[in-house]
Amino acid sequence: MDTVVLEDGRDLVLVDAGTPGIYPVIEAAFQGAGLRIGDLTGIVATHQDQDHIGSLAAVKRAAPRARVYASAAQAPGIDGSAKPMRLIAEEEAYAKLPAETRKRTPAPAGLWPEVERAEIGSIVSDGDVFPWCGGTEIVFMEGHMPGNLSLYVASEKAFIAGDSLSLDGAGNPVPPEKFTFDPALAKRSLAAAAARFDIRTIYCYHGGIWHGDGSAALSAISGY
Ligand SMILES: [Zn+2]
Repeated sequence: MDTVVLEDGRDLVLVDAGTPGIYPVIEAAFQGAGLRIGDLTGIVATHQDQDHIGSLAAVKRAAPRARVYASAAQAPGIDGSAKPMRLIAEEEAYAKLPAETRKRTPAPAGLWPEVERAEIGSIVSDGDVFPWCGGTEIVFMEGHMPGNLSLYVASEKAFIAGDSLSLDGAGNPVPPEKFTFDPALAKRSLAAAAARFDIRTIYCYHGGIWHGDGSAALSAISGY
């Protein structure tokens, strides 16, 4: 888990908030970096998977001034007004199992972690630019999940991928196909991002930081 913080002396923005119960680790990381979690002005939820919003409510409690940002498609699964998309998908897959297999397999809802819900302050759209770090753009990356997003920080040529990309065993960026709703659409999103941005650094939620010609790497992955 690698959350990312944008800090520019005016705004302090956390991108994703980890698994349930990980708040103390996030707080310690802030302290280690000489930052105060109470100074957060924003928290961006890239999408509603529990490892990205598990401690969102806890962070928000410690940072009352922080506005929570998410896409319209993702917000209901984060604020609790709808069932999480992944749980719905898992329940659909479970219902399709042969009866005999289903008897031996625990129902997804029973395994789903309790994620504390958090209120969304602002709905974001693709192409929205916020002043953070001189200009940070919201990039919709459909495919991993509807309304999933990444961020592009132009001054750093940095792509904060969230779950649009992870790093494989060899340290190369790849889309995390196993947990991606629509891998073909995810690849088209990567091709669009490659054409739209000059990317030199990629921050992957799962895997860490990658340096190189990110636009070329994304085009190569997408096959476009
Ligand atoms: Zn995810």
